[in-house]
Amino acid sequence: MSGGARHFAVRTAKCAGYGICAGIAPEVFTVDDQGYGRGPSGAVPAGLVELARRAADECPMAAIAEVTEPVRPAE
Ligand code: SF4
Repeated sequence: MSGGARHFAVRTAKCAGYGICAGIAPEVFTVDDQGYGRGPSGAVPAGLVELARRAADECPMAAIAEVTEPVRPAE
């Protein structure tokens, strides 16, 4: 992917709550009070996109998708 705003969505149905995403990219991902990952509400700043991609790559459930448009967390 190249150009344009980058959004990262956590597919909650796939997330198993490992919290790895927030450990790698705490500026982008958070975990809720049950340990499930949460994506950013808006576009990821260009300087954090590579970090967000690394977190997505490391997610053992492949629950993080890089998309060009915001995606509702309950997807
Ligand atoms: S690393 Fe993946 S499985 Fe773990 S909290 Fe983040 S999105 Fe969920």
